[in-house]
Amino acid sequence: MLIVQKFGGTSVGDLERIQNVANRVSKTVKEGHQVVVVVSAMSGETNKLVAYAEHFSQNPARNEVDMLLSSGERVTAALLSIALNEMGLPAVSMSGRRAGIVTDNIHTKARIESIDPTGMFDELNSGKVVVIAGFQGVDDNGNVTTLGRGGSDLSAVAIAGALEADLCEIYTDVSGIYTTDPRIEPKAKKLDRISYDEMLELASLGAKVLQNRSVELAKKLNVNLVTRTSFTDEEGTLITKEENIMEKPLVSGIALDKNQSRISLMGVKDRPGIASDIFNKLAENNVNIDMIIQTVGHDGMTNLDFTVPKNEVLDAKEVMDKFLEAHEIQDISYDDSICKVSIVGVGMKSHTGVAAKAFSTMAAENINILMISTSEIKVSMVISEKYAELAVRSLHSAYALDK
Ligand code: ADP
Ligand code: ASP
Ligand code: MG
Repeated sequence: MLIVQKFGGTSVGDLERIQNVANRVSKTVKEGHQVVVVVSAMSGETNKLVAYAEHFSQNPARNEVDMLLSSGERVTAALLSIALNEMGLPAVSMSGRRAGIVTDNIHTKARIESIDPTGMFDELNSGKVVVIAGFQGVDDNGNVTTLGRGGSDLSAVAIAGALEADLCEIYTDVSGIYTTDPRIEPKAKKLDRISYDEMLELASLGAKVLQNRSVELAKKLNVNLVTRTSFTDEEGTLITKEENIMEKPLVSGIALDKNQSRISLMGVKDRPGIASDIFNKLAENNVNIDMIIQTVGHDGMTNLDFTVPKNEVLDAKEVMDKFLEAHEIQDISYDDSICKVSIVGVGMKSHTGVAAKAFSTMAAENINILMISTSEIKVSMVISEKYAELAVRSLHSAYALDK
């Protein structure tokens, strides 16, 4: 088999753990498989580099940020390759560029456009383990780009797709996908399987165990994706097509996203096209909008609330200030102290009362719901950040996920 193995930050967190990864890779090779490894930066490294940049500027040029952040993964790739060679296992490390990963030019959240796997295949066919620095690529002009936080997962899935690998294993610090973050609710249960769609919702709604775009791509390319721990041999969770899952629980999991801010626009001119103008401008500036609420207008005015990722508030503010100057909006407020809790499950499609139970659970805990959005397979609520963990635990127990 051709297997892509991705090791996250904690799994390569120090030199001993990198050796542990080398041992695992070596074991897989000895079992007769070809292995391509994708690595993250050592844990804490990317945050440290971000803080270095912020020491000099609150708004550093994004191309420079990419030059800086991409270095973390290269350190790990080279160290792992050195360790493998020392064990007598021929290996070579590659940057995103050498691995043929071409992206668009949206620095710090670039999208992969194509992968030319020739270089990787050449090295594999000469009997080497290929170790690739995750989280990065290059744009058409050869500038280094990065794929958004958590982006090494995306590198791994995209590479597995390009190589038509038999399996893509994501090694992390928990033994699979749980009914909720086991660090928040120790009673969370590990799932044997989960559908691409449910995993995509969980990831998009804040479960950082897999980056959401990596799940989206895995579904599109039909990549066999397994999440498991690098610390033991325990079996992980298979992310697969819905039809491969026999039992369809009403609710599969609870996600928490503390990385959102709420922007409230007051006194918005209530004219046809205003929402289109505002949200198109935000999209042009690469701001990701999530929940939107427009209240009933009166006197030719309306209010508009929406959420954006915390690190995109500055970009959003720049756009909104223009509408303020043009007197299309009277006032704006920004609220950082919110979070979003969501319940996800394909079983919801065919059941009623799932959302009502979420609301009554919040009511029983005296938690005020600020915003709500629903889809076929999820219910999301924005609440005050101080109730985040309480909300997750009460929902987990309300849907009997600990049973
Ligand atoms: P890595 O560094 O390996 O990429 P991450 O820190 O990005 O690892 O993701 C793993 C973390 O995701 C876990 O430590 C856990 O706290 C968190 N997590 C959130 N939701 C879930 C969930 N439903 N199942 C498992 N882990 C989850
Ligand atoms: N090192 C990057 C991050 O911390 C990418 C990753 O770990 O997936 O976001
Ligand atoms: Mg991660």
